[in-house]
Amino acid sequence: MAIEKTFVMIKPDGVQRGLIGEIVGRFEKKGLKLVAAKLLAVDSKTAEAHYAEHKERPFFGELVSFITSSPVFAMVWEGENAVSVVRSMMGKTNPVDSAPGTIRGDFGLSIGMNIIHGSDSVENANREIGLWFAENTLTYSKSGDVWIQ
Ligand code: UDP
Repeated sequence: MAIEKTFVMIKPDGVQRGLIGEIVGRFEKKGLKLVAAKLLAVDSKTAEAHYAEHKERPFFGELVSFITSSPVFAMVWEGENAVSVVRSMMGKTNPVDSAPGTIRGDFGLSIGMNIIHGSDSVENANREIGLWFAENTLTYSKSGDVWIQ
């Protein structure tokens, strides 16, 4: 079993629209385990470090302004193949291309405000967890774990 951790962030549009509970509920029902979470105002330094791979892209400035414009809800989810499971539940980057049933497909309309971020690889997940959660993630057993294998 490949038990992975992945970094997930509900972006300012998702928080402002009251989608935290809906999104957390989807991951919980899927069987993933929440091992860290916090609501925070993001500073530019963290936003720029998080999106460093897009530094040269034309949308970088707007992306950093957006992420720092209002609080985000940052989380770490753990489970078997957590990185790819979260990515598939999120939908495509552009909500127009995202299937109904995915988070972006159900709630998003534009690429600029696409509600959620999820790490795209185990390597990036580890980097992002280190960036966003200096404090440790939690290790604990859930009684339902035995039914999700
Ligand atoms: N983005 C944008 N315009 C673009 C491409 C991306 O505003 O043309 C934003 C969008 O919010 C996306 C984020 O930049 O979620 C990071 O892009 P990436 O390609 O990493 O997509 P993701 O992994 O979020 O699906």
